[in-house]
Amino acid sequence: MQTKILLDESEMPTQWYNVVADMPNAPLPPLGPDGQPIGPDALSAIFPMSLIEQEVSDQRWITIPEPVREVYQLWRPSPLYRAHQLEAALGTPAKIYYKYEGVSPAGSHKPNTAVAQAYYNREAGIRRLATETGAGQWGSSLAMVGQKFGIEVRVYMVKVSYEQKPFRRSMMQTWGAEVLPSPTDRTESGRQILAKDPDSPGSLGIAISEAVEEAASRDDTNYALGSVLNHVLLHQTVIGLEAKKQFEKVGDYPDMVFAPCGGGSNFGGAAFPFFADKAAGKAVRLVAVEPASCPTLTRGHYAYDFGDSVGLTPLMKMYTLGHDFVPPGIHAGGLRYHGDSALVSQLYNEGLIEAVAVPQLATFEAGVQFARAEGIIPAPESNHAIRAVIDEANRCRESGEAKTLFFNLSGHGHFDMGSYDKYFSGELEDFEYPAEAIDQALHHLPGVG
Ligand SMILES: *Cc1c(COP(=O)(O)O)cnc(C)c1O
Repeated sequence: MQTKILLDESEMPTQWYNVVADMPNAPLPPLGPDGQPIGPDALSAIFPMSLIEQEVSDQRWITIPEPVREVYQLWRPSPLYRAHQLEAALGTPAKIYYKYEGVSPAGSHKPNTAVAQAYYNREAGIRRLATETGAGQWGSSLAMVGQKFGIEVRVYMVKVSYEQKPFRRSMMQTWGAEVLPSPTDRTESGRQILAKDPDSPGSLGIAISEAVEEAASRDDTNYALGSVLNHVLLHQTVIGLEAKKQFEKVGDYPDMVFAPCGGGSNFGGAAFPFFADKAAGKAVRLVAVEPASCPTLTRGHYAYDFGDSVGLTPLMKMYTLGHDFVPPGIHAGGLRYHGDSALVSQLYNEGLIEAVAVPQLATFEAGVQFARAEGIIPAPESNHAIRAVIDEANRCRESGEAKTLFFNLSGHGHFDMGSYDKYFSGELEDFEYPAEAIDQALHHLPGVG
């Protein structure tokens, strides 16, 4: 019984996979506030041209630069595990596999794109990056690789997470980044939010506004986003590409692929390489798992909306709960985003991928069950995928179907033990679906496109 399926360094992917090449319809373009498609120039104030080219590329394969592969080798290829113990605990005939991205220095999948973004910015002569972070996974990833490429990093950290996860802040500071609780009074965007709500818990959308504003107003500073954008999902495809080789080694192939979904980057990274097979006729189901209190795909509108709260970014056609919706302060901070990747959104709209929403308490219950069976303590975000996988494995027990289930264990939960503590002491709650707040935010959609 093989438990851990490894690849050699020489088997690490040399190219990223661009799903656009296999989508039945070209992605819809981002629009400016006038409703007209924007050109590459509109983005060049905050991104290097190399990343803008990847953002609009329809080439199937894009070569991973050697210096990026060298940094990847610190933790890649990451292991694929067969969850024998969890299968036994569930008494399911299903086979469960998971790819473990918690082996990166920052503890999640996010360094896969942080390395690439730092590299391309450095090549373009940029020496400073501004960014946002939710739970701190993205900020710590960028802080870590900033050191490797000689780039200074400033992180706007969502205030509720800044308070819930102080050690994530310490990590970023250890790697030399400056961390500010967002909303701050240092940017026009932050001041605008604080004027309306001095006690604002912050949100990813607000923190993005602050970081974009700073990058746009300083020549030496660019902006880096940890999810959502096409080039971010592209970089994350190392996950699924490695997983496919690992499945080949054991002569298996998933019937269903699951990943937690915030902005869609680890879902895209794990699932898109399998979408290539689906597009070629193979039967494989791809399932994005999101929080019931921030149910972007399952309850949002498919419309053009801003990527940030204040309205500084181009408009993207995506599932959205409204750019000024502030999601409840759930402990899976990485999933508190009002929108979703345009690529994930379009594939969902066309019925080519699926989505489910799960409530917070049930995700922690699943995470604890997983940790007791498999040993690894998952990040609260990852617990969402685990919930959906356990539910499917239980259905297999009822029906007797021996499906092969695969999920992305996007990160470990070592800096989230405060959240686990709350779960154990019964203080963790399920938030009602925030219908009124979402209704209101949806009234503020820009109404173009
Ligand atoms: C950020 C994060 C997520 C969700 O973000 P995506 O953009 O949807 O990938 C999931 N898991 C972990 C551990 C994260 O840090």
